[in-house]
Amino acid sequence: MATSKQEFNFDLTILGGGPAGLSAAIYAARGELKTAIIDVSMLGGQPTNYLEIENYPSYPHSGGYELMEKFEEHADKFNVKKFPLETITDVQLEGKTKIIETEDKIFKSKAIILATGAKAKKLGIPGENEFVGRGVSYCAVCDGAFFKEKVICVVGGGNSAIEEALYLTKFATKVYIIHRRDELRADKIIQQRAFKNPQVEFVYNSIPLEILGSNTVTSIVIKNVQTNQIKEIKTNGVFPYIGLSSNAELFGSQLETDKNGFIITNEKMETSLEGVYAAGDIRTTPLRQVITAAADGAVAATYAIKYIEELE
Ligand code: NAP
Repeated sequence: MATSKQEFNFDLTILGGGPAGLSAAIYAARGELKTAIIDVSMLGGQPTNYLEIENYPSYPHSGGYELMEKFEEHADKFNVKKFPLETITDVQLEGKTKIIETEDKIFKSKAIILATGAKAKKLGIPGENEFVGRGVSYCAVCDGAFFKEKVICVVGGGNSAIEEALYLTKFATKVYIIHRRDELRADKIIQQRAFKNPQVEFVYNSIPLEILGSNTVTSIVIKNVQTNQIKEIKTNGVFPYIGLSSNAELFGSQLETDKNGFIITNEKMETSLEGVYAAGDIRTTPLRQVITAAADGAVAATYAIKYIEELE
């Protein structure tokens, strides 16, 4: 059956417009590949939700959104073709021509870089889904201001949990950090800031069991994993920051992944399929930061350029 979709042909298509995708786009377009970058939302990726980034070299203090705007402006300089707000319906990674379909477009390219990142993991407890937008949130920068003079529980002990908890103290009178162990995973410098903040109270060795409320969240039920004691904490908000899961579901079983669903690459960012590269948070990597994602993007684009040169 004839399709009415608009068809585009590129040398390289990049899926995902975060630090990995934009950095790959800059390298590829500067390397004279006809390059497209596609995203399900606006370009910028996860960092656009971070109020402050203070470990991206040469920007000691930058807003996440501002930093990603610079990435995008840089990609614009090399005439990268941008396709934000696309709903991807199909991805075919095998064969010489890689095909991405969106609701109204077909993108054909010689190589592809997957840089769709990762998303917040869910607690998977009763009340979580029901109260999303009514007290449960995964984005402190987006929703923190709704919690002026309120009480918030953050769940997790990594960098995200502690940084976002500190950010939330700008609004909330009290922020509990509920962590399943008695030692935090977050970087020491971030831990120290939280220990010094009188609005933060740590609830260690505890896991959430249920989020309760009526119209909005009113409390969270937690269990102490050492004593099995169950306790209810009155709270207006619950912000889970318990890590990330890969956004690789779209690619189904086409690629090799690790047991957590992150795409396995070699040091050239090559995946298990020829002409398919993965960069940034979507791949198995020991560090998920803007700088490592950007570096992955540069490596992936460099080897995509070589791959396409060899094809020709
Ligand atoms: P993370 O480092 O994986 O930490 C997840 C935290 O949630 C851990 O403390 C973990 O406990 C806890 N957790 C996991 N599953 C849980 C569950 N089912 N119930 C309760 N608690 C659970 O994740 P993240 O903080 O989102 O960070 C993701 C990546 O981004 C990391 O590489 C991080 O360094 C990076 N990041 C960096 C910065 C920065 O450099 N400024 C900021 C944000 C994020 P355990 O500790 O017991 O495993």
